[in-house]
Amino acid sequence: MRAHWIAAMAVIALARGLVVAQAFLPVFPIGVVPDADGLIVRRVDLNPAPGATLAWDCSALTSDGHAGTDIEIRSFAQQAIGVPVFAAADGVVLQAHDTEPDMNTQALGQPSNFVLIDHGGVRTTRYDHLRMGSVSVSVGQQVRAGQQIGLVGSSGSSAWPHLHFEVRAQPGDGVVEPWSGPCRPGASGWKDQPSESSSLRVLDFGVTAANLGAMPPPPHGWPASGHLAMMEQPHWVWMLVSNLPANSTLRVRWLRPSGTLGLQTGVMPLGNGSPLRRLAWRVQGSVEEMVHTAGTWRVQVEINGSLAIVAPIEVLPGPDPSFNRAPAPITAELVGGPIGAGDPVVCRVTTAGALDDPDFDVVRFTYTWSVDGVPVREATHAGQADALAAGIVEAGRSVACAVAVSDGALTRAPVVASAIVDAGAAPCPGDADGDGLVDFNDITAILSDWLNSYAPATGPGDANSDGVVDFNDITEVLSRWLDPC
Ligand SMILES: [Zn+2]
Repeated sequence: MRAHWIAAMAVIALARGLVVAQAFLPVFPIGVVPDADGLIVRRVDLNPAPGATLAWDCSALTSDGHAGTDIEIRSFAQQAIGVPVFAAADGVVLQAHDTEPDMNTQALGQPSNFVLIDHGGVRTTRYDHLRMGSVSVSVGQQVRAGQQIGLVGSSGSSAWPHLHFEVRAQPGDGVVEPWSGPCRPGASGWKDQPSESSSLRVLDFGVTAANLGAMPPPPHGWPASGHLAMMEQPHWVWMLVSNLPANSTLRVRWLRPSGTLGLQTGVMPLGNGSPLRRLAWRVQGSVEEMVHTAGTWRVQVEINGSLAIVAPIEVLPGPDPSFNRAPAPITAELVGGPIGAGDPVVCRVTTAGALDDPDFDVVRFTYTWSVDGVPVREATHAGQADALAAGIVEAGRSVACAVAVSDGALTRAPVVASAIVDAGAAPCPGDADGDGLVDFNDITAILSDWLNSYAPATGPGDANSDGVVDFNDITEVLSRWLDPC
C-alpha cells in the first residue's frame, strides 16, 4: 500500500514538472523577424477531432492535424543567400538528414531534410524542410540554444521555403504548442514569445522591365530594379503582402518627377473571396510619358483605398547596367531583456522593409559577434536576426553584435548593438535544463550530461576523480548541483 502511494507521488511530481515547466525555448529557431522578412503561416492544430482545427490564437491559421509551426521566408532568393535555423534549446541531436532536393513548390509528401533534437529526455524539437547540404550537426552531437544547425529550404512536402518547427513531450511523443494565447491558456514555452501583426503588410516589392509573364511564379524570386531606361515600356510592378482582407482591391499610380499624377489604373479586384495570410501579385504598366521624362518617378500602390507603399523608380536616358545604390540604413538591437551569464543572445535588425534597398536588390547582412572586442561568431545571411549560442558570454563581459547590410555589391558601415552581461541574471546552476525551475527534470538533464560526457578510462564521468566511473560519481555530481541552491 505504502509503496503504491510513493510511486503515485513520484508520478504526480514528474507530471507537475511537465505542466508547470515554462520558457523552455530560449531562442526563436529561425533567423527572421516575423512580419518583416518572415511570416508564420500555419500553427499547431490543437483540436484532435478529424476535420476540425483550433490554433492557439483561436484563428483559422492551421491545418487539420498540423503538429508544428510553419514560418516562411520571402522567396528562393533569400533561401539561396541563406537564412539560418537555430537550436531552440540545449540538447543532443537524435536524427539528422540532409540529401533531399530543396526547391519544391508542391507539397506531395516528399522526404525532407531535417534535424531532431532531444532535450534531456523531457521533450524533442524538430526542424524540417532544410536546405540540402546545410545541416551542420550530426547524430549524438550536443548542441546549445542558439547554435546554427542548418539553413531554411523547401525540401520535403513543401510548397514554399519555410521552417516547420515541432515540439513534442517525452515520454509519449505528444505534440506541444509552445505559443500561449486565448485558445491555449498557460505560460508560453518561449522565453520571448514573438509578437505578430494581423494587419496588412508589404513584405517585398519590386519594379522590373523583365517580362514577369514569362517567369516562374513565387516563391521563385521575381527580378527587380530600381531604375528603368526611358524606352523600357511596358514594365512590371510586383508585391508580396501579408494579411490581405477578403475581396481586396488594388490601384497603382505613377507620379512624375514633379510630383504630379502621370497615370493611374482603375480600382482592380484582387479576386480573393476569403482573407489571405499571404499573396504575391504583379501588374504590367505602360507609362508612355516615361519615354520622354527622365528623373525620379514614384509608384504608389493603394490596397483597399489605403496607401500601401510609395516607391521611387529612377528613369534614366538609356540602359545602365552599373547603376546601383547602397541599401537603406538599418538599426540593430539585442532582444529578450537582460542577458545572463551563459545565455544565448539574439540580435535583430530593423530595415526599411520592402524599401530596404532603393534598387529593390535582395539584401544580406554580415553579423560580427564579439565578447570584450574578441570575435566569437561571424555569419553572412539574408535573415534579419542572428543568434550567439548559449555558453559563450560570461558575467560582466560586453557582448556586441555589429551588422553590415549589403546588396551584394555595396555594403554600408556596420551598426552595433551591445550589452553588458548581467551577473545578477545568471541562471541558477540547479536549473540544468534552463526551464526556469529546479525540479526532477534537472536531475535527468544533469545525469544525461554526465553520462554523455563519459569517456572510457578517466574523463568527465569520473566526477570524484577516484579513477573509476561509478555511482559515487552520481553522488558527487548531485551534491554539486544541490550545494549552490
Ligand atoms: Zn508544417
